[in-house]
Order: sequence, then structure tokens, then C-alpha cells
Amino acid sequence: MSNNILEIQDLTVSFDGFKALDNLNFSMRPGEMRVIIGPNGAGKTTFLDVITGKVQPTQGRVLFNGKNLRNTPEFKIARMGIGRKFQTPRVYLNLTVRDNLDLVCNRNKNVFSTLFNKPKKDDQRTVGGLLETVGLTAKANAKAALLSHGEKQRLEIGMLVAQSPELLLVDEPAAGLTDEETENVGSLLLALAESHTIIAIEHDMEFVKQIATEKVTVLHQGSVLCDGSMDEIQNDPRVIEVYLGEAPSISAEQMNMIRICASMAWADNNFAPEQLEVILTNLSQEFASSQDHQVSLQRELQNYLARKIPLEQLVPKVKNAKDKERVLRLSYEIIRSNQINSQEIVVYQNLLRLLDLPTKVVQKIEQEIEAKYSN
Ligand code: ADP
Ligand code: MG
Repeated sequence: MSNNILEIQDLTVSFDGFKALDNLNFSMRPGEMRVIIGPNGAGKTTFLDVITGKVQPTQGRVLFNGKNLRNTPEFKIARMGIGRKFQTPRVYLNLTVRDNLDLVCNRNKNVFSTLFNKPKKDDQRTVGGLLETVGLTAKANAKAALLSHGEKQRLEIGMLVAQSPELLLVDEPAAGLTDEETENVGSLLLALAESHTIIAIEHDMEFVKQIATEKVTVLHQGSVLCDGSMDEIQNDPRVIEVYLGEAPSISAEQMNMIRICASMAWADNNFAPEQLEVILTNLSQEFASSQDHQVSLQRELQNYLARKIPLEQLVPKVKNAKDKERVLRLSYEIIRSNQINSQEIVVYQNLLRLLDLPTKVVQKIEQEIEAKYSN
């Protein structure tokens, strides 16, 4: 028997013949923080519905700590230690923040200690501690109805944590939140991830970037499309296709080179408009296969340039010397086009170290570009 907390095997869920989940396989270790992403309709919510027992598998099985959950009613699954936070907050609006938490803490004590005589170490968790964790100490005595949407989300996450579930399921916690609230909820999840096993379902890519410090699983049409680190996922042409609704018009190798250029442009954490201009022009010239492609590629490129990824992850993927030279030429021009500053020098030197090209080649390329900019 594996020691996965959750193991899902060949899971299919059909609604009148439509497969919301289609032969899905998934496993996760205790203590993991897993983010599951996928476009609308990918099957994310259904995935949670099966784990919590709201929906029964048509085929396949869900094992929680090795135990098959088939035909186990929802309330029993919850009692076994799977807690779920729904997309919309379900807090008692006419109670104060403190009373909402109090209620769950006490109900929890009754259920676990009285009924099953199974005290959990987290039972010592105080309401005060929870208020602090979710950042609502100052609002403890306010009616929940007066909280902002983001604060309600945090309160509900607190209520979930109060039940000390072994596995926390969180469905799109950032939906409908402002940027600031999104960041707060993200920080809360990251803090909880240190001591909990969490599956966070998310649609919003920006939020995913904040919370995806471990493995990300991409769901598409009811199956796992791929999984990996956030950087791996973002560079995967299949993921880009699913999210942009179109296949990338360049190869994965070319995209990798483009991302290196983007990381150079982001070296000083400042992506100047002139820089963007140079980059879009140069890169679209470099990688387009035709005049028309050059125009469409400029638009596509903006998606690939949006993020700074550590060069250590990108540069080793450039295998042949010609491509290395290409990367160097493009990168040097990017920083040279807009006065090189000290941060850019540091990143550039790192690039040189990782590319490991002969000094002569580097000098030649630098001189060529210098010549272009000195007249
Ligand atoms: P996501 O959460 O990724 O947006 P869902 O799991 O909600 O996706 O839905 C996956 C697909 O299954 C969608 O096409 C949806 O319309 C369909 N679906 C979900 N629940 C039902 C249901 N109870 N009956 C019929 N179709 C459903
Ligand atoms: Mg959903």
C-alpha cells in the first residue's frame, strides 16, 4: 500500500453520458500543497465533488489514506478528515466573526471528543489563535455580514481549519476578490500549507503564481493534461494552447529562448516600454516563419514575456551552440538598447556563465551589437 493521502485511479464521472471526469489519475502525499488549474468546464469542481462524496464515480476509485470512499456518505467523509471550502463563502452572517469560529470549534469538540472520544492535538487551537491566523483579530466582534468578500473567504477558511481536517479542499478562493484581498487569501493559504495538506483549485493564473510553490496539476476535459512546477507548466505548449485557445505558433525550444530574453528584460524588475518595443520587433523577426507570422507573433509574444523565470531553469535547455549564440545576441541587445545598469550586468554575467560560450564568441557578438548602437 502506498502512503499517499489521496490516490485516484481511472476515475470517470458521467452525467447523462457526458464525461465531466474522464479516466483521471491523481495522487498526492501527506503534507503537500497541490494547486489544480484548468479552464472553465475542465472538471475541477466535479473532481472535488467526487472526493467529498457529493458525486459518485461512474468508474474508478478514490482512496483516502488507502481507504476506498465508494458509497461513503458526505458527512462520513467529512468526519474522516476531508474538509471543503466552497466557492462562495458559507458563514453565519448574523453572527460575529468570533462567534462563527467559536461555533465550529465547539461543535468540533463535541463531535470528536464526546462522540468518538478521539481528542485531536489541534483541538487546543484557540479561537484567538484562529482569528490571528486569518488576520481578523481586529474584526472579531463585527457581524460577519459586515465583512468584505475577501474577509468572508478568510473567515470561512478559518472555520474550515478549526475542524482540523487532514485534507483541506479549497475551490477557487480568489474568485471575485480584489487584488489586495486575493493576495491576503494567498498568504493565508501559504501559511496554512506549512502544517496542512491542501488541494487548492484555481482558475486565475495570477493567483496560482502566488500560491503554487509546489506541484501544479493541469486539468483539461476531465483528465490530467500534465503536472509539474509552475514554471514547467507555464512553458508547456499544451497548457498554453488550452489557456489561450490556440496552439503556440513557435516550438518549445523557441519559447524557451524567448523566455530567457524576457528574463533579461526583467533583470532590473523594470520592463521599459522602449525595451518591449525592441524585444517584440527583434524576437518576431528572429522567430517568425513569414511576414504574416511576424505580425501575429508580436501579439502572441506578449504572453510569453509576461514573466521573469530564473535563468537556471531556462538556459540549460538551450542545447546547441547556434541557439546559445542566438540567445546571447538577443539578450545583449535587450539590455544594451536601454542603457545597461548594474542589476542587468549581474543577470547578464549569470547568463554568460550558464551559456558557457567561448570568450571569443561572446566578444564578437558584443562588438557587433555595440557597433549597431554606437552610431
Ligand atoms: P470546472 O469546475 O472546472 O469549471 P465542472 O467540474 O464544474 O468544471 O464541470 C465540468 C463539466 O461537467 C462541465 O461541462 C459541466 O457543465 C459538466 N457538469 C458538471 N456538473 C454537472 C451535472 N450535475 N450535470 C451535468 N453536467 C455537469
Ligand atoms: Mg468550478
